[in-house]
Amino acid sequence: MGGTVRCFVCGGRASVYVSYLGEYLCSYHFVEYFERRVKATLTWFRLVEPGDRVAVAVSGGKDSLTTLYLMRKFSEEMGFEVFGIAVDEGIAGYREYKLEALRSLAREIGVDVHIATFRELFGLTLDEAVAVLGERGLKVKPCTVCGVFRRYALNRAARELGATKLATGHNLDDEVQVFAMNLVKAHVDGIVREGLATEPAGERLVPRIKPLYFIPEKEVLAYTLIRGIRTPFVECPYIVHALRHPMRHWLNEIEDEEPGTKYRVLAVKELFRNILPPPPKEMMLCRVCGEPTSHPVCRACELKTYLLSARVVPGQR
Ligand code: SF4
Repeated sequence: MGGTVRCFVCGGRASVYVSYLGEYLCSYHFVEYFERRVKATLTWFRLVEPGDRVAVAVSGGKDSLTTLYLMRKFSEEMGFEVFGIAVDEGIAGYREYKLEALRSLAREIGVDVHIATFRELFGLTLDEAVAVLGERGLKVKPCTVCGVFRRYALNRAARELGATKLATGHNLDDEVQVFAMNLVKAHVDGIVREGLATEPAGERLVPRIKPLYFIPEKEVLAYTLIRGIRTPFVECPYIVHALRHPMRHWLNEIEDEEPGTKYRVLAVKELFRNILPPPPKEMMLCRVCGEPTSHPVCRACELKTYLLSARVVPGQR
């Protein structure tokens, strides 16, 4: 073909190809298209309302930084407050770099960030937990421990800091990957739970919202590059143990062959969620820590007890 590829809106030099539209956009119109969809998600689905105090769960990766950036950008005109909560799991060679990127963006856009740590909450870092699992041959994956502890830490910090909503950076790819994993594991409860927003379920559980729910991961990456939102390209060393890893590659390959696949899978997921019974409205409180749970003792307390009792103390073997 030759020559410069042109934006289909203005005819300027294109910088992003939106494969499911089959169209190219220049940086200006791509940013406009991106931000318009995130704002429409917030307003059409009433994810936030004037007077809300929104905590953004920020890991320091591109998705959560973009969420923090956009929530800050929309906060004044939409009348809500925003601040960040980060969880330091204690993953050496990874988390410290991501937290630095987060601190830098938070300073730039003027947002406060609170940091909760696994060590303070559970008595050990994720690296220490993984060492315990390895030494004792326990069959729990790092991401399982990480996910349970992080959900607990985020909800607790958000509630204690007075948040009325907890926004996470989950994008379209995350949603489709989790749906596919829930399908292969036959986790019907997981399919029902993982939507655009959670319904209020008791005052100790802060409702969650996902402003990037309809945005493909590739577009989040393009947005951060255009906006200059920087994060180091380091990956968590434990990602290779997660089923999500192959699932992500598989879905990306299909999307490359058949653009729009991820949106179609998301539509199927929503269909399932509409016909399956909804999750229970009220949660019980954990007998040990008093946090909301669907079991008498929450998963975080169970795992904490399991890990601390299995830990090798010096002199013991
Ligand atoms: Fe946690 Fe797994 Fe994500 Fe690493 S890849 S941060 S262990 S959930």
